[in-house]
Amino acid sequence: MAGSGTFSEIIDGDVYKYYVDGQWNKSSSGKSVPIINPTTRKTHYKVQACTQEEVNNVIDSAKKAQKLWAKTPLWKRAELLHKAAAILKENKAPIAECLVKEIAKPAKDAVTEVVRSGDLVSYCAEEGVRILGEGKFLVSDSFPGNDRTKYCLTSKIPLGVVLAIPPFNYPVNLAISKIAPALIAGNSIVLKPPTQGAVAALHMVHCFHLAGFPKGLIGCVTGKGSEIGDFLTMHPGVNCISFTGGDTGISISRKAGMIPLQMELGGKDACIVLEDADLDLAVANIVKGGFSYSGQRCTAVKVVLVMEQIASSLVKKVNEKVAKLTVGAPEDNCDITPVVTESSANFIEGLVKDAKEKKATFCQEYKREGNLIWPLLLDNVRPDMRIAWEEPFGPVLPVIRIKTVEEGIHHCNASNFGLQGCVFTSDINKAIMISDAMETGTVQINSAPARGPDHFPFQGLKDSGIGSQGITNSINIMTKVKTTVINLPAPSYTMG
Ligand code: NAP
Repeated sequence: MAGSGTFSEIIDGDVYKYYVDGQWNKSSSGKSVPIINPTTRKTHYKVQACTQEEVNNVIDSAKKAQKLWAKTPLWKRAELLHKAAAILKENKAPIAECLVKEIAKPAKDAVTEVVRSGDLVSYCAEEGVRILGEGKFLVSDSFPGNDRTKYCLTSKIPLGVVLAIPPFNYPVNLAISKIAPALIAGNSIVLKPPTQGAVAALHMVHCFHLAGFPKGLIGCVTGKGSEIGDFLTMHPGVNCISFTGGDTGISISRKAGMIPLQMELGGKDACIVLEDADLDLAVANIVKGGFSYSGQRCTAVKVVLVMEQIASSLVKKVNEKVAKLTVGAPEDNCDITPVVTESSANFIEGLVKDAKEKKATFCQEYKREGNLIWPLLLDNVRPDMRIAWEEPFGPVLPVIRIKTVEEGIHHCNASNFGLQGCVFTSDINKAIMISDAMETGTVQINSAPARGPDHFPFQGLKDSGIGSQGITNSINIMTKVKTTVINLPAPSYTMG
């Protein structure tokens, strides 16, 4: 697909261009960053390695464009977003193909990611029109000691330039979930896509370009996060950072300075299964939640905490389903595909070796070819094993057998993460009490953890994040309340 059709303007030879001031440019660095196909482990695409000067230009141009955009009527901003959503959906096939080649996302899921992103843009446009047009009106005599001489009007104003940094696992959807709320709220956007996933993101930006947004309003710089990341996140021209990724986010939050941060970081989502659970429902959710996209989801089930009495039946049923998972190429829509990089595969292998040394029960034989790791359930995991606490981001799922519900809650809360959790039980009262006790941003009752629907609030506690996502919350984070107070002279009459 590279270089063909309407997309040809975004590539030069075999290197994709970056996007500044409404134009597609080559970097003056003369350097490119290779994107390795996780399946073949060969370079599949290349993107520009942007320089600091180019980052400055993208931010300057975004700053200028934002001033006019903030004055553009909301309905007009929404109209352009709807147009971009339609173009994005029209181009679902070529963008999905990039996701298959860059991050080994199964082909069907790749298409779903693009379509879901288009829907998110449209919903965001609608929601923005509704909530950004509203303000508050306050009267001073509602506060003790104040008479009715002050009237307060509030409205929501944009922040300026929003820096969006998404992770590799949803490079389109998690870029869009930042871009759409930022734009409808009157901000401009500078996108730094993940290296694996950068080409899908550039094609997505091209859809916004084709929709006809003003020059400079959207900029996209490419390059390794380790090389240009600090320069971007500490740039004085950036007014808000919306980041999704791993521990990198913790260091960004320490360096960023006094600007609003929306951080969505890692998780170790626990699945607590009680004796009275519908076991088949729990098993289906554990397998789907633990192994979809090879476990490379922030809300994947990352540890199962099951009551001892039902543990053996649960493990048996999970194993039966794991045996049916298909393993292979993303092009063939296999359930389990290669993990994103060789270093990720090595990291996962380290966790597996540690569990082996510490005598976890291996329900399947550990098998790896290149970046492809076969699904593995580890039973009888104990708290002294790394896999009990660390996020594998791969198709390896630990099971810890618990004697009491309190033990499960304690394990969940002892984690430094607090993204989501879930509980399977037929007793709704117990479920709500457990939800209250779990220190996570969301608890799902009788379903696996999940991001979305995209207008639901989505947030992590502790090392899992700062702020809350979901369309409405994102619009609110990317705006500031502005207050205008009308002062009247003191009344020269007395009532009654
Ligand atoms: P990552 O390594 O933290 O990278 C995330 C993004 O940060 C990438 O775009 C990366 O660019 C960039 N980056 C790297 N170093 C940087 C720096 N110094 N300054 C600024 N940006 C920098 O995470 P990942 O491996 O892509 O994603 C997996 C992680 O994301 C997991 O921990 C997962 O749980 C988490 N995640 C969380 C959520 C959520 O909603 N809570 C959703 C999805 C994923 P390069 O690719 O160029 O290095």
